[in-house]
Amino acid sequence: MSDLAAQLRARIEAEGPLRLDVWMAACNTAYYAGPNPLGRDFTTAPEISQMFGELIGGWIGDLWQRAGQPAVRLVELGPGRGTLMADARRVLARLPGLAEAPLALVETSPALRALQGERLAADWYETLDDVPDDRAIILIANEFFDALPIRQFDGQGGETAVTVTEAGFAATSLPAPGTAAGERAEAGEAVAARIAARLARHGGAALIIDYGYAETQARDSLQALRHAASADAFADPGSADLTAHVDFSALARAAAGAASHGPVTQGVWLARLGIEARAAALQARNRDAAAAISAALVRLTAPAQMGTLFKVMALTAPHWPQPAGFDA
Ligand code: SAH
Repeated sequence: MSDLAAQLRARIEAEGPLRLDVWMAACNTAYYAGPNPLGRDFTTAPEISQMFGELIGGWIGDLWQRAGQPAVRLVELGPGRGTLMADARRVLARLPGLAEAPLALVETSPALRALQGERLAADWYETLDDVPDDRAIILIANEFFDALPIRQFDGQGGETAVTVTEAGFAATSLPAPGTAAGERAEAGEAVAARIAARLARHGGAALIIDYGYAETQARDSLQALRHAASADAFADPGSADLTAHVDFSALARAAAGAASHGPVTQGVWLARLGIEARAAALQARNRDAAAAISAALVRLTAPAQMGTLFKVMALTAPHWPQPAGFDA
C-alpha cells in the first residue's frame, strides 16, 4: 500500500467516509507530484502542437495592445510542462512592454515546477491568492479546472463519498439533504470568483480552456485515467489522473463582476484565431513535417477529436476590450 493509501485508510477509519472532493484533492496532489504524468496518461493541446501556445500568445498580444498596453503580469494556472507559455512567449517577445512582463506560475507539483523552470523564467506560487495583486493580469488556464475537486449529488439526498472495506477503497454515499442531482465544482468556482475580483481591481483578462459543457446539467463526469486508459477512481489513490467535465456556466456565474465571453468550442475558436494559416506557414517552412502538422491541426480542431468537447471561455474586466475569437 502506498503512503497516501495508508493515510487515507487511517483517516476514513477514524472519521468515516471521505467526501469525493476531499478524496479527489488528495489523490490529484499526489498524482501530479509523481514522476511526469503528462504525456504518459494523457496529452494536452500544447503538447500536441506549438500552434496552440503560439495562437494564445497572439491572442494575449492583441488584447494587451487594444487595452492600451498597460503594465501586466502574466499568470498561468497549472502550467504542466510549461510548453504553452514557452510557445506563447516566443510570440510575445516581439512586443516591447509585454515581452518583459513578469510571469507567475501557480503550480503545486514540485516535479512539474522543475520542468517548467527548464523552459521559463518565472515566479512560482501555491495558489492564485499568493500571486501579488498589484496590477492587471492576463491569466491562462488550460486543463486546470478539470483537475480541481468536485462534489457529486445523487438527487436523493446523498452525495458521493469514499469508504474502506476489506477489499480496499469503495464508493459510498453520505447524507446531503435537499441537494439537486449533479456535480458542483466549489473549488473551481472559488478560483473563478477570485480571478473576477482581481480583474475588477486592476483590469485584465482570463482565458479558460477545458473539456466540459456550456450549460449546467446533471451528470456523472468523474473520470480516472492511467496510462491513457480509463481506471477506477476509487482504487489506488494517487496513481491516476482524476478529472471532471467543467461546467462553464457555473464558472461564469461565480465570476460575477467580470464580463464573460463564450464558451465557444475549441475548434471554432482556433479557426477564428487563424490556425489554418499558421499551419500552412509552418508547413511551408518545414516540408518534412507537413503531414504531422496536418494531423495536429485535425486533432486540435476536428469535432470528433478535441474540437467540440473542449471549450474556450474568457473573462475580462468590464472596461477591457472584447477578446479575439468570441465574435462570429
Ligand atoms: N496546462 C497544462 C497542464 C494540464 S494538467 C497543459 O495544458 O499541458 C493540470 C496542471 O494543473 C498540472 O500542472 C497540475 O500539477 C496542476 N494542478 C492541478 N491541481 C492544482 C491545484 N489545486 N493547484 C495548482 N496546480 C494544480
